[in-house]
Amino acid sequence: MVRALNDLSIQSTAARPLPDALRRAAPKRIVLLGATGSVGRSCVQVILGAGRRYETVAVAGGADGAGLARAAIALGASFAAVADPAAYSQLKDGVAGHGIEIAAGPMAVVEAAVRNADLVIAAIAGTSGLAPTFAAIEAGRRVALANKETLVCAGHAMMEAARASGAIILPMDSEHNAIFQAMAGCDPARIVKMTLTASGGPFREWSAQRIAAATKVEALAHPNWAMGKKITIDSASMMNKGLELIEAHHLFGVDAGRLDVLVHPQSIVHGMVSFVDGSVIAGMATPDMRTPIAHCLAFPDRMPSGGRALDLAAIGSLTFEHVDYERFPALRLATKALAAGGGATAALNSANEVAVSAFLADRIRFADLAQIVGATLEQMDIAGETTPPETIAQALAIHHIARDRALALLA
Ligand code: MG
Repeated sequence: MVRALNDLSIQSTAARPLPDALRRAAPKRIVLLGATGSVGRSCVQVILGAGRRYETVAVAGGADGAGLARAAIALGASFAAVADPAAYSQLKDGVAGHGIEIAAGPMAVVEAAVRNADLVIAAIAGTSGLAPTFAAIEAGRRVALANKETLVCAGHAMMEAARASGAIILPMDSEHNAIFQAMAGCDPARIVKMTLTASGGPFREWSAQRIAAATKVEALAHPNWAMGKKITIDSASMMNKGLELIEAHHLFGVDAGRLDVLVHPQSIVHGMVSFVDGSVIAGMATPDMRTPIAHCLAFPDRMPSGGRALDLAAIGSLTFEHVDYERFPALRLATKALAAGGGATAALNSANEVAVSAFLADRIRFADLAQIVGATLEQMDIAGETTPPETIAQALAIHHIARDRALALLA
């Protein structure tokens, strides 16, 4: 799988027109899963900006029936699936008179995922993205992956399924997209280090004490990126970077020892690859999801994203610093789970989901986020509940056990 990706990227960066075969490889028919979320809405913008280049086969969303109807109409989608059956009537009213086929329930989202298309954008947040993403991979689709939980929970099963079906996975997460571009088709064996950058979030300069007592409003005030609430809290705790390290391990097939994080407050360099000859290639762009989205949509071609051009002179300086694991214990927990391997990362992700919702519901303090995740992992390790999942069902079983354990810790 990685080989196939690399072959394509070598040819796409050649300084000559793309051969016809590769031009045809650029997708045309799109499925957009998670159309109503933060990444999904940016995808809608980029697709609309490309005029008639794309045909939207299907869109899917979670519980926002009205928003999904708007996305379906804007994109001229043939099929719209909403995961929450309670949102069906909203969706139905929203698309009335537009001749769009609709359905509700988790299986309807899976159906959307496997409709005949050239590219499936997997932008559903959280573990509800697992089943539809897996279905698209099993069907051998090219998948632009924005859902990191998929790889954190079931990375091994997902990558094995991709190898078996020949599915190509294009990373849409900004850091991984930058690294993928920087790899430029090089053999992963020639890579000494992969560095993901982190903005450091709103608490980059705060003391541990101040972070411990941070409020929801403070944690939601991300300095550089406008994103959904869950990922914004994960950015403040730096759990997001931990999940991304796990994601990078699966996507690029590099061991934990060659993965690194650097804090880079300007969020211009998103990822770097250091090669055996000492060369370091950095992927840069303004912090705007439309850039990695446009890259995945057009790959191996290029297209405008609608974003602002990068002006380095206006930014003036780019700075980098090491992560302080004492103040950001979530990142240490994630690296520990990655080293432990197997089901530990699924448990980490699940416990973190529980903790973040509790924090957003004002039930726990910011400091409790890492505490709950750490305690859940410890309990599950002792009970032997984190054996490596071979299938999606096993990964989800670990997810549910961790969820119950974390909920019990909250109570
Ligand atoms: Mg990211």
